[in-house]
Amino acid sequence: MSQDNVLRKEFSKKDVQRVRNLVQGKTGDRTTEGIGYSKKDIFYKEGDIWEENGRKWTIKEGIKQNITKYDEIKKSVKIPLFCPNCSKQMKHKFDPSYYKIHKKCYDCFLKFATDLKRMGAWEVYEKNIHNSDLDIFIKDFKDFVKDQLTVSNESYVTEQGDIEKWVGGYDKERVLESLEKTVEYLENLKK
Ligand SMILES: [Zn+2]
Repeated sequence: MSQDNVLRKEFSKKDVQRVRNLVQGKTGDRTTEGIGYSKKDIFYKEGDIWEENGRKWTIKEGIKQNITKYDEIKKSVKIPLFCPNCSKQMKHKFDPSYYKIHKKCYDCFLKFATDLKRMGAWEVYEKNIHNSDLDIFIKDFKDFVKDQLTVSNESYVTEQGDIEKWVGGYDKERVLESLEKTVEYLENLKK
């Protein structure tokens, strides 16, 4: 084992747990609780991807993480080759980002915006686009935090395939409280 791996092993086994205990305010807890598992446990190592209860999981930096949702979200905005509005090929460098928000190419967007401004409807359009982006973000963020909360008390698999159980879990109430504050902040960004 290289020096680097030795260091990483030390880190994953002790420091991560210690940091986690600190976060949870449990500085007195033993950090080696629960290391060592029976043969029937399935071992996964860093970078492995597997399915469990209909969801995809991986181990990233020694921590078991759910990946199904975010991969699907990333894939969900596919940029078509041609603009659905003018049928021209979308090859302008701004096309992908304008398509994601406005569902048209950059050229079409500019014309559309000019028309809306002329009609005095631009402000209403812009406000709605902005708010619906925020709504999507708020929803994703809430789901993400809830996912993290369900994972928090499960086992943790190190790079070497050892499984560790966290001592205790997150302070769920504190997490939910901060989630609420964050959502409140995001809601305030709405126009
Ligand atoms: Zn177009």
